[in-house]
Amino acid sequence: MQFFAFLFVCEEFQCSCGGPLSLFCATLLSFSCLSDHHSGKFLKIRKLSFKLSAHLSLSLAVAQDRLRLCMKRKSKLFLCPALALHYLCKLQQCVWLLRKTKMMSDNLRYTPFSTFLNRYFAFKVQKISVDAGFTCPNRDGTLGVGGCTYCNNRTFNPGYCREMPSVTRQLEEGKIFFARKYPEMKYLAYFQAYTNTYAELQRLRDLYEEALSVPDVVGLVIGTRPDCMPDELLHYLAELHRRSFVLVEYGVESALDRTLQRICRGHTFACSEEAIRRTADAGIPVGAHMILGLPGESREEIVAQADVMSQLPINTLKLHQLQLIRGTRMAREYAESPSDFHLYEAGEYAELVVDYLERLRSDIVVERFASQSPADLLIAPAWGLKNHEFTEWVKRSLRQRNTYQGRLYVSR
Ligand code: SF4
Repeated sequence: MQFFAFLFVCEEFQCSCGGPLSLFCATLLSFSCLSDHHSGKFLKIRKLSFKLSAHLSLSLAVAQDRLRLCMKRKSKLFLCPALALHYLCKLQQCVWLLRKTKMMSDNLRYTPFSTFLNRYFAFKVQKISVDAGFTCPNRDGTLGVGGCTYCNNRTFNPGYCREMPSVTRQLEEGKIFFARKYPEMKYLAYFQAYTNTYAELQRLRDLYEEALSVPDVVGLVIGTRPDCMPDELLHYLAELHRRSFVLVEYGVESALDRTLQRICRGHTFACSEEAIRRTADAGIPVGAHMILGLPGESREEIVAQADVMSQLPINTLKLHQLQLIRGTRMAREYAESPSDFHLYEAGEYAELVVDYLERLRSDIVVERFASQSPADLLIAPAWGLKNHEFTEWVKRSLRQRNTYQGRLYVSR
C-alpha cells in the first residue's frame, strides 16, 4: 500500500512535468504520505496531492508556453528571470501546501471538534457559556442535596457570566470578549452550568429561543443529565434542530455503575445509554462527557470504557482528568483517605488518553482531552498546562507511538 501510494504521488508529478522541482515536491509529499499512511485516512492528503499536482502542472504548462514564446521571439534575456520568478512563486505555494499537509496529518490521528463543526458551518464558530439560572435534581432534593461528589459549579463559568444577567446580555458580553480576536466569528450558546433541561418546557423554549434570537448566534449546545430529557422536550429539540443547530451533551462520566454510585450521580449507565439512543433516534447530534481517573477505577477499566462508548450513537466526546475541587465532597474524601485516589500526572494521563483513543470508534469527534479548573479552586492535580498545550502533548504521543484513534476499535 505504501509503495503504491509512493508511486501514485510520484507519477502524478512526473508525468505532468518531469522537472526536478516536481520530483523534489513529489518525494517530500510521498514521505509525508508514507509516515501518515498508518492513520488510514489518506483522503485529505490525497486531495492535497491532487491540488499540488494541479499547481505544478499548470505552472509548468505556463512556463513551457512562455519558453516557446521567448524562443520564437529570440528574447533570451527575458527568458531566465521570467522562468525563475515563476518557479519561485510556485515553489512558495508548494511549500505552503506541504505545511498544510503536515498540519492535517497530525490532526488525522484523531477526529477533532473542528471536523464536526465543519459539517454544519461554513464559517468559524465559538461557544459562549451561558448560565440560565438552572439548578439540578441532584442538588435541589429531588434526587439528592449534596450533588455529585466532585461537583462545584463555580468551575463551569468564565468571568463574563458570573453575575447571571439575562441570556441575551451574557451572549452579547461573550461576543464582545471573543470578537476582539475574531470579528467575523459566529457563536453557539452553550447552556453549561447545572442541568440545562431541568425546567418546564415553556421556560426552556423561552430561554433557548432567546439565545437564538441574539444576532450571530447560530445554534445551541445544551449540557444536561441523562435522566432529564423527557420525550416532549426531545420532540421540541428535534424540531429546533431542523431550523437551527442543536447539540445535546450528556454527563455520562463513567460506564461503571459502581463508580456512578460512589460519586453519587443519581443515575445508572443504562440511563445514559437510553438517553443517548433516544436523542440520536430523534435526529439530534449527541455528545457525552467522561471523567477519566474516577476513584476505584483501574487503568484497564478506564480504557475498556472506550469500547463501551464506541457502541453508542454519539457524535462527540469530551474527556477530562479527575480534578479535586475545593469545597466538594470528593475533596473531603481525599483529605481523609488519599490512598483511595490516583491523581494522574500530565504525562501519564496523556498515555492513558492515547490508549483510550486507540479503542475509540474513529468517527467520534473528540472535543477535548483535559480541562483546566480555575487555579483558586483546584486542589490537584496542578499540571500548569493550558488545554491547548495538553492537546499538543496528546498529538505528540500519538505521533511518537505511531498510532491513531480507532486503531484497536472492535465493532460488536
Ligand atoms: S455535576 Fe451536574 S448533575 Fe452533578 S451535581 Fe453538579 S450540576 Fe448536578
